[in-house]
Amino acid sequence: MLADYHLHSDYSGDCNVPMQEMIEGAIAKKVDRLCFTEHHDLDFPDIGIDFTLDIDRYYEELMKYKAIYSNQIQILFGIELGIQGHLYPQLSQIASSYPFDFILASNHLAKGADPFDPSYFQTRSQYQGYFDYFEDMLNNVTHYSDFDVFSHLDYVIRYGNFKDKKIYYPDFIDLLDAILKTIIAKGKGIEINTSGIRYGLGQPHPSYEILARYKELGGEIITLGSDAHTAKDITRHFDQAKELLKKAGFSYFTTFVKRKPYFHHL
Ligand SMILES: [Zn+2]
Ligand SMILES: [Zn+2]
Repeated sequence: MLADYHLHSDYSGDCNVPMQEMIEGAIAKKVDRLCFTEHHDLDFPDIGIDFTLDIDRYYEELMKYKAIYSNQIQILFGIELGIQGHLYPQLSQIASSYPFDFILASNHLAKGADPFDPSYFQTRSQYQGYFDYFEDMLNNVTHYSDFDVFSHLDYVIRYGNFKDKKIYYPDFIDLLDAILKTIIAKGKGIEINTSGIRYGLGQPHPSYEILARYKELGGEIITLGSDAHTAKDITRHFDQAKELLKKAGFSYFTTFVKRKPYFHHL
């Protein structure tokens, strides 16, 4: 089973590759299950990109291609919801209004501030920048439940001009343990997002330490996602990701259909 559960097309504000091109790229790579997870980030700070998704149009086009390519690939209907504290009711409403196969929950912001914006780390130390990000995430996983998998847990390390961007687990053990335990207790999962390897961070999101701790705490649900915004990145570095998961003690990875988890041997 080759399954990519995190990718974008031109329905996402930061991607300009048509859905059909992504699908044909995935077929060429012999992908079995391809789950689009288009961005829907409401009330996002203005960085010149509109992350609001036209879900009706997206659903319609995806269903069209799902039928056209049904003999070659299984296409799944997913979404990447940007979670913020004041949006919980609105996001729950969206989650229940469409027949999603898979819902990714993402922290792209920390208490409304965008780590991508240089001012984020200009006004915070590296430690405080990471701390604020995880504190906001803990709040979200505690109070918001309409998702299947929480994405790229240590996404915040993508940004900031630091020589050593690594999260040292003991520095954030209370927050990270609480985040992982809450996700596990709710029957939700996390992903291994290979974009970190692509961006030269030397690790997927999250790092091996966080993946191993998740497993140690009883975590079982884990999806593989490339976060591809171009066809060539679909399933990229998945062999490396699977090896890392095995090393962390996992025997299975997860896919979702109609928001129900399925487990596959690594
Ligand atoms: Zn994301
Ligand atoms: Zn994404």
